[in-house]
Amino acid sequence: MLADRLKHVTGSATLKVAAEADRLRRAGVDVIDLGAGEPDFDTPAHVKDAGIEAIRANFTRYTPAAGVHELREAVCTRYRADYGIDLTPAEVLITAGGKQSLFNAAVALFNPGDEVITHAPCWPTIPEQIKLMGATPVLVRTHAEDGFTVHADAVTSAITPRTKAIVLNSPTNPTGGLITEETTATIADAAAARGIWVIVDLCYERLIYEGAPHNLPKVLFDRHRARTVLCGSASKAYAMTGWRCGWTVASADVIAACNVIQGHSTSNVASITQRAALAALTGPQETVRTMLTEYRMRRDSVHGWLTAHPGIRCQRPKGAFYLLLDVADLLSPSGIRTSSQFAQTLLEDHRVAVTPGEGFDAPGHVRISYATAIEQLREGANRILKFAESLNPAHAS
Ligand code: PMP
Repeated sequence: MLADRLKHVTGSATLKVAAEADRLRRAGVDVIDLGAGEPDFDTPAHVKDAGIEAIRANFTRYTPAAGVHELREAVCTRYRADYGIDLTPAEVLITAGGKQSLFNAAVALFNPGDEVITHAPCWPTIPEQIKLMGATPVLVRTHAEDGFTVHADAVTSAITPRTKAIVLNSPTNPTGGLITEETTATIADAAAARGIWVIVDLCYERLIYEGAPHNLPKVLFDRHRARTVLCGSASKAYAMTGWRCGWTVASADVIAACNVIQGHSTSNVASITQRAALAALTGPQETVRTMLTEYRMRRDSVHGWLTAHPGIRCQRPKGAFYLLLDVADLLSPSGIRTSSQFAQTLLEDHRVAVTPGEGFDAPGHVRISYATAIEQLREGANRILKFAESLNPAHAS
């Protein structure tokens, strides 16, 4: 008998399609994989070199569970440069990706019976972690018409006496939406008045396309510093998904609590990874800009190709590297009824892997990642268009 805490938690809905794509690929089928949520770029050379050098220098032993001092300092320096906020290393914890940063915060802050507000469509780990703690996720919906932005009044009106925290993710996976500074300020003020924690998942913080002001850390620190938790990651900005490095920025008390949790679970992030992440944070940032330019070009191309079909609707996202395609017009009671079936059939018949929206609380949608080479994207888009035309011949061009 498994523990009660697992009763309401579901595994990743994306895994079914991913496993099937993997099976087909191993069987020699040419699958275009638009499901993966990770950069196709290589980790920058100077970052790889720092990791190799760490091994050669025998930097291979335990480090403090919270991370090496230099890396905690490097996060402070980065956040000072990027956001104009002053931090001390005691306010920083190095974690195994943004995921562990969010998880530690959930363990440290959520009690059974608490309500935690977040927004949907969302990255499933956020509500599932809330449920794992015995707390209840309260989902505030966002909408395609306004770029899936979060509205402050929708969040503040979801606050009840049981609300313990608000978890924001901006840029948002899977929508690519951005939360504005004004919205964040209103949410911060409401949270401050009631002692509610604000946790921000900044996994895609460096992947914003339109130069929109997005200094959420400063807005929150100016208003609500004691109860703000920022969860960052090296994964997407530096193409380091496999290295597993992220960080938490919060008050020294919260960091101390997260350090206890981490100290009794995973301990330190791999020593080698920490040296590589140090090079990423302190070294030249051009690679981030180069990737962003490439992603922007891909976003505009794929968005243009796919939305040329009248049965596919999609807002041009402002951040991250996903398009959330509204395919509801292509579904029908007598044919493909759900976006899960859509993804399954697209994979089986046209060999393109996409992630069904059900996993993101976005039925009727599928998510594609454009963190894939442009040739693959062109071919994937062609196959999706062909599939769309077969589903709804009225839309065939
Ligand atoms: N937050 C969001 C919204 C994500 O999409 C992801 C990765 N898919 C993460 C956090 C965590 O990534 P990592 O653990 O690799 O930093």
